[in-house]
Amino acid sequence: MNTLVCGRANYTIIIVAVSSVFEKLIFCVCLQNNTLPWYTMGMDKTKLLTLINREGVMIWDSLCETYPTLVAYDPPKFKLNPYTWRTAGMCFQDLNLVELGYKFFKSNTKNFDYMMQVILPHEIIHQADFNLHGESEKRCGHGAQWCKMMLQYGLPADKFHPMEISRK
Ligand SMILES: [Zn+2]
Repeated sequence: MNTLVCGRANYTIIIVAVSSVFEKLIFCVCLQNNTLPWYTMGMDKTKLLTLINREGVMIWDSLCETYPTLVAYDPPKFKLNPYTWRTAGMCFQDLNLVELGYKFFKSNTKNFDYMMQVILPHEIIHQADFNLHGESEKRCGHGAQWCKMMLQYGLPADKFHPMEISRK
């Protein structure tokens, strides 16, 4: 239930977020090659959470298409964890809550994309797995059903991530 990974559904999305004149213009384009926004740094937590929520709901919706019984459940809530620097994400299944490490998003654009494309679906699939199949046979949560769902979603069923960031 900690660390995490990504691929993505076939969305064609164009997101343009314009912040105040005092901040950088943020322009994100997500094309068919499944890459997510190239992100500028310095985005604040509220904006980041908005983006995570939007993306998270899309991931949940695509899981609902694959597993129709999931429709009975709300997508998980998302929270940023300001402290973690090794664990990129965590899913608290009994709370329907996914926590993501803020430091990873902030570290660089490559990690930002990895968090959105791999860690976010990884954690959401932990929740979906729990809703559909109950407690995993593996303590860490990376059991057979979770692995299957990851592969079905288009991601490797990998419980480790390659991001390295500093503690600060
Ligand atoms: Zn995990």
